[in-house]
Amino acid sequence: MPKLDFGPPDFHAMLPPVIKRNYGQWRYHEILKPGLLKHVAESGEALFTVRAGTPRLLNTDSVRRIADLADKYCDGYVRFTSRHNLEFLISDESRVEPLLAELKKFNIPVGGTGNSMSSIVHTQGWIHCHTPATDASGVVKAVMDELFQHYTHMDLPAKLKVAMACCLNMCGAVHCSDIAILGVHRTPPKVDHEALARGCEVPTVVASCPTAALRPNPRLKSVDVVEERCMYCGNCFTMCPAMKIMDGEHDGISIWVGGKVGNARTAPMFSKLAIPFLPNNPPRWPEVVDAVKNIVDVWAAHAIKGERVGEWINRVGWERFFELTGLPFTDKHVDDFIFSVPSFRSSTQFKW
Ligand code: SF4
Ligand code: SF4
Repeated sequence: MPKLDFGPPDFHAMLPPVIKRNYGQWRYHEILKPGLLKHVAESGEALFTVRAGTPRLLNTDSVRRIADLADKYCDGYVRFTSRHNLEFLISDESRVEPLLAELKKFNIPVGGTGNSMSSIVHTQGWIHCHTPATDASGVVKAVMDELFQHYTHMDLPAKLKVAMACCLNMCGAVHCSDIAILGVHRTPPKVDHEALARGCEVPTVVASCPTAALRPNPRLKSVDVVEERCMYCGNCFTMCPAMKIMDGEHDGISIWVGGKVGNARTAPMFSKLAIPFLPNNPPRWPEVVDAVKNIVDVWAAHAIKGERVGEWINRVGWERFFELTGLPFTDKHVDDFIFSVPSFRSSTQFKW
């Protein structure tokens, strides 16, 4: 393959030699203990994987520390999973325990394998992004503090993937996670006509709206919002900072449940709305923490072994889910969005 100067590099170049030698020839794998995997190839070679958590937003000291550990124990081979776990890939078994000891010394938690909770994948929040309806790191820290036991122990009925995105653009895996925490705006953008005329292109702003809620206003060289068509997605704000969507009073958090990516047992599923709104309550977001913990506890108490959150809900029924979790079912749960029909066909197994 020719070497290009754009796009991701060919991943084969970054595989550890043991994986290259045994590519596609793995016989089995086992979980030796929480956070430690062993893959055995047909050739008899073994690969040990130590999975560790990260806070996702990393400072340079942490990145250097991770790189140093990878150099010391894994010949430089380390990777991030899609849920922002670290995976140290080790071909020499004698290096596993020293690495685990060093991770412990640096307070880097090891876990997230098998029937446990993975790291919470999350977005930028107030630290970096311009459209958030809530923070990301702060909410995740508060939730993870409460659920941390499930990261280091494989004590759940099945794997648990929690995701957080701070607006509907959903840079996190909110649409396909067992439990998803999603920041929501609830009011239409307020247009700063003067700033829009000065700094944004009207056709681009109008085209950015997925529900055709924006109309050109030639008199002001700006746009008007047809409020009843707006779904508060914030896409127009991404195009033009004059479309102010942030609203300190009405922005908050919604909770979604039952999504998954995997094809195992059942088809992939989209997450569905469980709680339409919880208030933004920094620095510890107690309402959100309680809500997520409640769903995890009820699922853990009622699911049969191997049943992901969505599979459990499909078995017992949504009515029972709302009953068991004590969550109210409201008009907000009825999906009457005009483009909802295509979203019903959501699996890789569908047939038109
Ligand atoms: Fe920004 Fe939205 Fe992504 Fe959060 S989810 S980082 S607010 S675009
Ligand atoms: Fe359109 Fe979304 Fe902007 Fe509302 S917030 S006007 S739906 S782009």
